[in-house]
Amino acid sequence: MLWGKYEEMRPSQIEAVLAETATAYIAWGSLEWHGRQGPIGVDTLKAYELCLRCAEQTGGVVLPPIYAGFQTMKPHAGFKHTIEIRRPTVMDLLEQHLDQLADEGFKFLVIMMGHYGGLHVDAIRKTVEWWEHNHKGMKVWAIPDYEPVLDDGIRGDHAGKYETSLVMYLRPGLVDLSELPAEGCLDIKQHGISGEDARESTVENGKRLAELIVQRVVEGVRERRDKGPR
Ligand SMILES: [Zn+2]
Repeated sequence: MLWGKYEEMRPSQIEAVLAETATAYIAWGSLEWHGRQGPIGVDTLKAYELCLRCAEQTGGVVLPPIYAGFQTMKPHAGFKHTIEIRRPTVMDLLEQHLDQLADEGFKFLVIMMGHYGGLHVDAIRKTVEWWEHNHKGMKVWAIPDYEPVLDDGIRGDHAGKYETSLVMYLRPGLVDLSELPAEGCLDIKQHGISGEDARESTVENGKRLAELIVQRVVEGVRERRDKGPR
């Protein structure tokens, strides 16, 4: 299956993907506090790496990742280094990508959301719903990265064991667990961390999670793209 990073592809290569699968991926994340142990781009970095691995199996182009998160840790609890983007900007940016990708001839788009603020996910989903209602020809599957593995008993978190392990595996060298306090509870208000204990994060756990997510997304794409009506 043909695949590539959109910005690195020549016209002939993009045209070949359009002829073969007409599939595109966008990793949609944020720039947001993820505990003292994690990089600011956790949401986007992990979703982008997952998209690359999925595209390798399903074919398709992977757009450059989008760092535009609404309802981040800054309005939530004042966490620093976070770039909060307004809801209308997120929705408008998405609408323009949907318009342009459909105009370019793509038939199936996966939007993998690495940032899960409830209102942010709602803004993305509402935009997709409205757009699909008014446009024919391109199907859109918008999912938070953990959603395809919910049935496997896996829950997403914020900078906890789930997200931190994923980044340790997908982008080695960016996480430093020694920046976390050695003892005591880690919580959302004080540390900006939720979910299972981030100190238990491992590369092996990240590998297990990443492989399962990729497997489920690939199955989902095949189900929706190859079997359903266009
Ligand atoms: Zn996150």
